[in-house]
Amino acid sequence: MFGNVILIRFGELYLKGKNKDYFENMLKSHIKDKLSDIDCSVYFGRGRYVVNNYNVAVENDIISRLKQIFGVHSVSVARRCGYDFNEIAELAIHMTPNHGSFRVTSHRSYKKYPLNSLQINMQLGERILQAKPELEVDLHNPDYTLNVDVRENGDVYLYDSTVKCAGGMPYGTGGKGLLLLSGGIDSPVAGYMMAKRGMSIFALHFHSYPYTSEAAKQKAIDLANILGEYCPNIKLMCVSLTEIQEAIHNNCKPNYMITLVRRFMMKIAQKVAVKYGCGCLINGESLGQVASQTLESITVTNAVVDMPVFRPCIGMDKDEIIAIAENIGTFKKSIEPYEDCCTVFLPEFPLIKPTVDKVEEQESHIKGYDELIERALSGLETIQLK
Ligand code: ATP
Ligand code: MG
Repeated sequence: MFGNVILIRFGELYLKGKNKDYFENMLKSHIKDKLSDIDCSVYFGRGRYVVNNYNVAVENDIISRLKQIFGVHSVSVARRCGYDFNEIAELAIHMTPNHGSFRVTSHRSYKKYPLNSLQINMQLGERILQAKPELEVDLHNPDYTLNVDVRENGDVYLYDSTVKCAGGMPYGTGGKGLLLLSGGIDSPVAGYMMAKRGMSIFALHFHSYPYTSEAAKQKAIDLANILGEYCPNIKLMCVSLTEIQEAIHNNCKPNYMITLVRRFMMKIAQKVAVKYGCGCLINGESLGQVASQTLESITVTNAVVDMPVFRPCIGMDKDEIIAIAENIGTFKKSIEPYEDCCTVFLPEFPLIKPTVDKVEEQESHIKGYDELIERALSGLETIQLK
């Protein structure tokens, strides 16, 4: 009988020239890990991988998992047969519906196959029409397209649909970044976007316990676990900002609160990044979304660090960010109503256009600035994720 297989396509890896093996090996190991507890085998061919020997009951589960692997461009469930043309025709007739229009689109990577792609298209089309004369051929806008893929390994795959997957680059091929992970909507999306380009993600969450609750921290942990579906071995660390926020509250003008907190966050984040070998910071800022995300505010918070800060959401509207959050499964968790540490001592009128000079002047009122940072760092907690 003809068995089901899942064809895996990877896109941009082709651009990588001599480094292609490195990218492919990373992708292969992610696929193996993701499917390790499913009874199946994966054939890693040139330019195409194929999942075989699985029970159809787990087919959708396999596809859902493949959709979480960066570097996988698309997948198709296909039927497999051998090179014998009668066998191919039998399968093609079986798969093509009985009514409407159709076309055959074949691709022949096995160049020694006796028929070329055009001949396969025409001869299979004829055989299908003979068996199902009520069908008609429509090359431009067919109701049904049967794709035929003649591979070098003796296999021919027939399929009629393709599922788009995450795309991007294999996780772990794009360096390591430290994500400032709040409990909100934007930062998990920011982490996802960088991971999609192959960046390994370490995450850092700030809390203000006891001003913020255990549940707020748990929310960040839950979000990191969701990101973990895409980011194997993601790490999460937590740092308390409570003492720092109290020091700002007691010594500085109220409307500087958010700006100053964000500068402390960036400074601490950079120290954590260096300690854990991360080459950049990532946050969920979107230009103009709130007072702390104007160009002036970003300039002031960026001024305390000297490593690259990536803000993949910077040019996105909120609804675009939400669409991604829904798609990757973080949205429902992000909208649970727990307070973020930025809401502690929230001023009525936060600064929209801070300047470095004035902000530094405010910071000079905080005694033991460096010690505050060191104490916060010494309380760094590493969270055990799933
Ligand atoms: P988000 O939806 O990601 O929380 P936001 O729109 O609420 O973003 P802000 O609160 O201004 O925006 O935060 C901007 C960015 O600062 C966040 O995207 C995140 O990267 C970082 N950030 C904010 N709060 C925290 C926190 N408690 N821990 C770690 N990072 C944080
Ligand atoms: Mg937030």
